[in-house]
Amino acid sequence: MPHTADLEQLLRGADLRVTRPRIAVLTAVHAQPHADTDALIAAVRADLGDVSHQAVYDVLRALTSAGLVRRIQPMGSVARYESRVGDNHHHVVCRSCGAIADVDCAVGDTPCLTAANDHGFTIDEAEVVYWGVCSDCQNADSSIREDTRV
Ligand SMILES: [Zn+2]
Ligand SMILES: [Zn+2]
Repeated sequence: MPHTADLEQLLRGADLRVTRPRIAVLTAVHAQPHADTDALIAAVRADLGDVSHQAVYDVLRALTSAGLVRRIQPMGSVARYESRVGDNHHHVVCRSCGAIADVDCAVGDTPCLTAANDHGFTIDEAEVVYWGVCSDCQNADSSIREDTRV
């Protein structure tokens, strides 16, 4: 977990004013990778007291466009936020419970950004989502199967 001073540094480095809501949101995003907006609002409120939804949304938008926070939205999921930015890592998503984990790029640094044909676009992100079933859900499944056998 970064210290508040480090987060202030991050904000200043991105030409953003240091405000308590921004520090609180950054802290929450660092503490809970892939949290959704509701979870982040709850964390910010636990920290700062009453903060409006809109204020948290606005801060998330500012942090995302400044590149301090990455927003991901797997199909069928609400938007989620993480502080691990700039490395084009991928995600594995559980089809059953929606759990999300980080997956490093399969072949080192951001090779997926080199598109076979960029159609003249300036490409800054390649989104790869691996879909599957997490180990918790696999275990739950096999215990259900065992139950029906008895
Ligand atoms: Zn699962
Ligand atoms: Zn991630």
